[in-house]
Amino acid sequence: MQIVSAGRAVSEQADGWAPSPPALYFHHRASLEHDPRAHMPGHPDTPERIEAIERRLAAVDWLGWRRREAPRARESQLELIHGARLVGMIRDMCAAGGGAIDPDTFVGEPSYRAALHAAGGACAMARALIAREARVGFSGARPSGHHAEPERAMGFCLFNNVAIAAELAIRELGVRRVFILDWDVHHGNGTAEAFRRRADVLFASIHQAGIYPGTGALTDAGSGAGEGFTINLPVPAGSEEDLWLSLLEHVVLPAAATFAPELVLVSAGYDAHRADPLANCRLEAGSFAHMARHLRELAHRLGAPLGVVLEGGYEPAALAECVQATLAALADDQPAVSAAPEALLTSRAAAQVSRYWPL
Ligand SMILES: [Zn+2]
Repeated sequence: MQIVSAGRAVSEQADGWAPSPPALYFHHRASLEHDPRAHMPGHPDTPERIEAIERRLAAVDWLGWRRREAPRARESQLELIHGARLVGMIRDMCAAGGGAIDPDTFVGEPSYRAALHAAGGACAMARALIAREARVGFSGARPSGHHAEPERAMGFCLFNNVAIAAELAIRELGVRRVFILDWDVHHGNGTAEAFRRRADVLFASIHQAGIYPGTGALTDAGSGAGEGFTINLPVPAGSEEDLWLSLLEHVVLPAAATFAPELVLVSAGYDAHRADPLANCRLEAGSFAHMARHLRELAHRLGAPLGVVLEGGYEPAALAECVQATLAALADDQPAVSAAPEALLTSRAAAQVSRYWPL
């Protein structure tokens, strides 16, 4: 017994990790207090999304993941990405009781506090990962962030949690390159804008074409010094797992491996699930497990930690099933399944992305 444990410790330390690194889950009860239905009855972004996730995970003892409270982000952390004017506008609007930021995005008095903890959870996760306290992390807070642009909150999002965590890693934690995969069914326009001209963040988004927010064309590869460091892969309504996995495996992952990130982050929305009311793709919970395993294997090969940040997903039961499948896949040792290259869209996407990356 002792010999076995000692051998395990040696082999795990050999690739740079402490023995049995825990997986960390960040959350905060403030996520339950932000409720856009106070302004728009029937709004799909509800506290029940988080309640469904946590009820399901509690029933399986959180799959052994260690939970940590998401701290509040400081305003200076928000301002790593956002203008002080936007931060102040949202803070003041919430303090005054709330209101509409745009036709989809509403805040109430508790929303600012919820948003600080959502950004803080992503930042605390990045810090813990870079400190090698864990090899994988998940920040399960709301409001989500990937539509929030540097100067504009939109699309249910106030501050861009994943972008703030990426920028924190680069500016304060010594990370040189961050890869962000956005698998939410909507284009991650906010993250794309934050890093559009940057060569130290590779941003890839797979999203349904023709729905909100309307950005993310295949030919938009970033600008200036950041040209090539944005990968947009729109898919048609009705797309299934085969296409998503093919684009991930045959277009996104080879580019990401060449980029050699020191931190891998995922903007994990689950609204590409077939049950989701806001879009029309046809993924299953197992599809997200497949994607998570591919990301886990990429991160492991590169010796980079992997952090996942919750974005969308508006059918609470499906969302909870998907999050559980993701956590299980991030922590298990099942190999990622290889997908056959889907002929039409994958080859068109590969032709575009191979202008910048060897595929
Ligand atoms: Zn979404």
